[in-house]
Amino acid sequence: MTMPEDTQDDRLVVFFDIDNTLYSANHKIAQEMGVRIHAYFVSLGLSDEEAADLHSQYYTQYGLALRGLQRHHDVDPIDFNEKCDGSLPLEEMLKPNPRVRQLLQDIDRSKCRVWALTNAYRTHAERVLKILGLRDQIEGVVSCDYHEENFPSKPQPAFYLKAMQQAGVRDPSKCLFVDDSFSNVEGAKRVGWIRSVHFREVGLETVEASHAMRISQDQEKLLNGDEIPVIDDLQQLRELWQDIFV
Ligand SMILES: [Mg+2]
Repeated sequence: MTMPEDTQDDRLVVFFDIDNTLYSANHKIAQEMGVRIHAYFVSLGLSDEEAADLHSQYYTQYGLALRGLQRHHDVDPIDFNEKCDGSLPLEEMLKPNPRVRQLLQDIDRSKCRVWALTNAYRTHAERVLKILGLRDQIEGVVSCDYHEENFPSKPQPAFYLKAMQQAGVRDPSKCLFVDDSFSNVEGAKRVGWIRSVHFREVGLETVEASHAMRISQDQEKLLNGDEIPVIDDLQQLRELWQDIFV
């Protein structure tokens, strides 16, 4: 009886980021999240200005505001999640997009499996996928486990490795990835997810660490000078990843 190598599922795996990727930034969910995270900082006894500064600082330093809140303010991540992502009126803000559903349906599942990879907590991820009517198209969801101490998140290498382990894929070059955050795409490339794509809706507004910003056209470069493919419509994946579509 042999098990390991030859029984390994050798299909490719595509990992989709969820927020501002499987739905457009024009739904302004990031703005509403920003408002709630700011209010959370203020509820810790900070002034508006201190709250904005710290939020920015933690976001820059840790990639996640929550990580700074845990380390320096002993915040319970579950409470944070309930008051921030959990309180968003997503059912009123999002609706299924038939083009995105069709895109996922057109991925040839004999060649490629479809997963989601998010820095959000599982409840938020599942809720968004359900509202978008995409849950049945996604085999598995890799999300941040707030119960785990020092849980990994994008763009930390450990999180992409956790994703590979959960999806049961050993070869990083088999992982395809699309995300609206450049640093997350950069992190993926660093662990060998060479077919990563940056989804960038140029001109739309988003929010990073409570600062509103317009998504710009400027192409960031990787340290080694490599350019990452940029798309402004998920449908362009059909061209970039021709081999996985029917
Ligand atoms: Mg995103």
